Amino acid sequence: MSDDHRPANSQHVDPVILPKPGEPLLDTRRRPLRDLRISVTDKCNFRCTYCMPREVFGADYQFMPQSALLTFEEIARVTRAAVQLGVEKIRLTGGEPLLRKKLERLVAMLATLRTPAGKPVELTLTTNGTLLAKMAKGLKEAGLNRVTVSLDALDDDLFERMSDSKVTVATVLEGIDASARVGLPVKINMVVRKGMNDAQVVPMAEHFRHSGHILRFIEFMDVGSTNGWNLAEVVTGAEVLQAIGQRFPVEPVKAGYRGEVASRWRYVDGAGEIGVITSVSQPFCGDCTRARLSPDGKLFLCLFADHGYDLRALMRAENVDDEQLAARMASVWMGRDDHYSELRGHNTKPLHKVEMSYIGG
Ligand code: SAM
Ligand code: SF4
Ligand code: SF4
Repeated sequence: MSDDHRPANSQHVDPVILPKPGEPLLDTRRRPLRDLRISVTDKCNFRCTYCMPREVFGADYQFMPQSALLTFEEIARVTRAAVQLGVEKIRLTGGEPLLRKKLERLVAMLATLRTPAGKPVELTLTTNGTLLAKMAKGLKEAGLNRVTVSLDALDDDLFERMSDSKVTVATVLEGIDASARVGLPVKINMVVRKGMNDAQVVPMAEHFRHSGHILRFIEFMDVGSTNGWNLAEVVTGAEVLQAIGQRFPVEPVKAGYRGEVASRWRYVDGAGEIGVITSVSQPFCGDCTRARLSPDGKLFLCLFADHGYDLRALMRAENVDDEQLAARMASVWMGRDDHYSELRGHNTKPLHKVEMSYIGG
């Protein structure tokens, strides 16, 4: 027995006053919970310099042991609770999510979830694409709805330097093609870093025009504390749009829904759509509806948080049922006040920000 006379493997969950059925669960800034990003592993076969620099994530880096990871059943349990609280979109991420064994089984489990209104949840995945060519079909059959593939350059040497891997651009492009062939809509994510791959912005735009895939340009962010971020290396969304617009004129498209992080643009000549994600130059915290689940079951509310809330301990305790799990998650969300990107540069940096490869994008 512990000091408070509860068994050691028990957890206390305070009663929470939840919103009435049909009313959204709001945080302190009146933002509803709509999206859950699930990081299924902290491991990756790349060492992208802006995410997992090899000097830090080297041969002796200690990744999480298997026993620390949430099981698929535990992930499904948290996700079910999140859907009950308002989540409509689920994204599997990592690390590299396709390194998690039998991921299709998790996809199949999550694909069956329905919102309280009976709508299927939207189930997506972000991947570096290396294993996609052989996995796309199985993922689609398991119920995945869409895929986002990260690709920072078309030039092989540059791609090798940025990803710090021996994987070729052709391998990632094959993954993209395989996904499209099996009927998975594809988005492409390109992180743009000044002096590194900014000269690839226009070639990437040119390559993906007419492909039907939406290419999204992401500002290099100060996530984690290992990637040597500095503001001078950020290429802003405005600079990206200017470079592309000079070659292929673009016009804005209205946002599809609240919380859409990318601002959307389309080529005037009808060659397709692009997006820019301006987390640094034009933060969108006011519309941030995302929560994140780490591989070891911590609930994080902000990409720049320095701590998460331990749901694994709660789930592995004997006396906690699904309702109590949902109540804990609801109370965490209702107390949320994060708006880091709006405070960036105002000397409010948390001391130890969590790494992107652990929490997912
Ligand atoms: N490994 C998968 C991948 O690369 O797609 C999924 C995880 S990765 C952390 C998710 C997304 O975060 C990727 O699109 C990646 O480019 C992006 N990302 C990682 N570090 C970043 C940074 N410092 N700034 C902006 N985006 C970043
Ligand atoms: Fe791996 Fe993705 Fe991070 Fe690159 S961005 S190191 S692929 S987790
Ligand atoms: Fe959301 Fe945090 Fe990013 Fe703001 S900084 S948009 S609160 S994840």
